[in-house]
Amino acid sequence: MNHTPQRTRRRTTKRKQQRRKPLRGRFVLLGAAVLLVLLLLRCGADEPQPGSAAADETAAEATAETQPVPATQAADPPSKDDPLLLLVSRAQPLAGDYAPELTQLHDWPYSIAAIAYEPLRQMLAAGRAEGLSFTVASAYRSTDSQRQLFDEDVEARVSEGMTEDEAREETARWTMPPGCSEHETGLAVDIVATDNQRLDDTQEQTPETIWLHENCWRFGFILRYPAGKEDVTGIDYESWHYRYVGIEAARYLTEQQLTLDEFWAS
Ligand SMILES: [Zn+2]
Repeated sequence: MNHTPQRTRRRTTKRKQQRRKPLRGRFVLLGAAVLLVLLLLRCGADEPQPGSAAADETAAEATAETQPVPATQAADPPSKDDPLLLLVSRAQPLAGDYAPELTQLHDWPYSIAAIAYEPLRQMLAAGRAEGLSFTVASAYRSTDSQRQLFDEDVEARVSEGMTEDEAREETARWTMPPGCSEHETGLAVDIVATDNQRLDDTQEQTPETIWLHENCWRFGFILRYPAGKEDVTGIDYESWHYRYVGIEAARYLTEQQLTLDEFWAS
């Protein structure tokens, strides 16, 4: 009776000894796998891979891991031949035949340039993984719809007592004339907090907008009309308007604190 426990113990020890080798092998394999995953995460940190939910997690983790370090890892200036850096402004309207390839968004009644669809999806998913809730307030607009928007704003101001000229001037501070809006490229998107969908000064204080301002470059977007650059952009600060330029260009412009206008003027 009393040697039963011993026998059991001995058996256990024997079993452990027999298992030791394969177990150690498994740990080595597991260690190698973890190392590989860590290496992959590092390599992919600046480039969220398209596709799965796993890619979204990678993007979210990358957010915490990589901070811009201009002194040691400064991005190279992008090429002005890159079509993603297209400058559209009052002074530089779009070509009349410009027709971007578009993709319809899933959750909102807007389209965006096909090339910016996946980066946008990944950016919003990464923010959502941190508990944020976004609403896309605008994306692609045809030149006709931009014209309609502009005319409606002018009419509203005229009905409030402004002259036609005053109304056009005031409207142009906020709304680009047809042909001159980035929204016509499909590369611009207005994003707000679901809790506060107002396009005004309160938007920049929402956790969603704070997060986007810090992280949008990682997904290839820039804040196109930042505060303090109104003289350069010719547009009042819009904390909700993001423009897709690609990751490398977004990183460069963000590090250098350059607007797209300044990049083109340099
Ligand atoms: Zn906008």
